[in-house]
Amino acid sequence: MTGLNPTHDPKRKSWVDTANSTDTDFPIQNLPFGVFSEGEGPRRVGVAIGDMILDLTALEVGGKLTPGGDTKVFDQGVLNPFMGLAQTVWSQTRAKIADLLDAEGGDPSLPLVARSAAQLHLPVFVRSYTDFYASKEHATNVGCMFRDPDNALMPNWLHIPIGYNGRASTVVVSGTPVHRPNGQLKGPQDDAPRFGACQKLDIELELGALVGTPNPMGQPVGAAEAYDNIFGYVLINDWSARDIQVWEYQPLGPFQSKAFGTTISPWIVTREALEPFRAPAPERVQPLLPYLHEETPNNFDIRMEVALAPKGQDATVISRTNYKYMYYSSALQLVHHASSGCAMETGDLLGSGTISGPTPDSFGSMLELTWNGRDPVEVDGGTRTFLEDGDTVAITGWCEGAYRIGFGNCDGTILPAVDFGIS
Ligand code: CA
Repeated sequence: MTGLNPTHDPKRKSWVDTANSTDTDFPIQNLPFGVFSEGEGPRRVGVAIGDMILDLTALEVGGKLTPGGDTKVFDQGVLNPFMGLAQTVWSQTRAKIADLLDAEGGDPSLPLVARSAAQLHLPVFVRSYTDFYASKEHATNVGCMFRDPDNALMPNWLHIPIGYNGRASTVVVSGTPVHRPNGQLKGPQDDAPRFGACQKLDIELELGALVGTPNPMGQPVGAAEAYDNIFGYVLINDWSARDIQVWEYQPLGPFQSKAFGTTISPWIVTREALEPFRAPAPERVQPLLPYLHEETPNNFDIRMEVALAPKGQDATVISRTNYKYMYYSSALQLVHHASSGCAMETGDLLGSGTISGPTPDSFGSMLELTWNGRDPVEVDGGTRTFLEDGDTVAITGWCEGAYRIGFGNCDGTILPAVDFGIS
């Protein structure tokens, strides 16, 4: 179920004027899904269009949009019921919404809410969260720092999409503050570990794939099927505590250093909206096993930026990269995940892993940008090696072509560590 259709037509305009501006994230060709409320009101499902939100919950109550037939799917305050419907229904609903919002033949009486007046919530109940390690540049940089520059990649890296099972419970929506975590710390010169506040708090710039169509336990999926099973994508900041990580992670993967908070953007950009921006994976250094063979380009050309604003200061862009550099696509990650017999379910979140490009200004973490603190980066009002309390990190992402498909904001501010009185 791939290819272009009338929802991708660059000539289409909307009766929502701000959707026709060339710099909006949300033209009529995007139509990302989210969850919003007005004040303390109930959570409703909506689609972003220009600087407005189309209220799908109201449309469903009014009988103008009924993707679930007699069953309501926009009344739960999360998108899981809709994401669990057939892929053809996702497409038909997108086509119908585009028609309703079209400047030609649309319906300007539809219920809109100003985005500036709405509070945005987690768009999905995140069933499980798996995080990968799929950028060759990132894995090479980290391997150079912590292993051996002549042998930076582990021998399995060029054959397996490496991942670990993370925590869904601390996935939060953009704008949610994150406390500096506490944990076990042990410097190379220390005789013994101690418990305290992280001193090397970092970001990880990632893209998240949200599974729509499940696969049952014991039933693997092929690459084309996996691509189609993904409902859409969000931006991720996978906050990371490097000093906790370096002490805890060997010989297994990261644990508490990643479990304290993961921020996602509030709008799910559908896989269908990204279709015009598909990009091939980088050339394979070694051939992948047949079950990981991709017939189609499953990466996307998504420009991404990280900006850092110290408290009371302006934001400075500290990294510019692109999702197309990823060695393993989200579809391949899903193939590998299901290949053992692991059930993947509606609302599962797959983090791409840190997205680093080939040049030092395109690295997706401060660990790499500052080379573990050796080379501070310039920000407004000072420099940074790792994050300080009060810092706000904003990740943005967008596709650029005949129109712009944006993801909205993925922001978080660091609050001081909480002293629980434990040691
Ligand atoms: Ca990560």
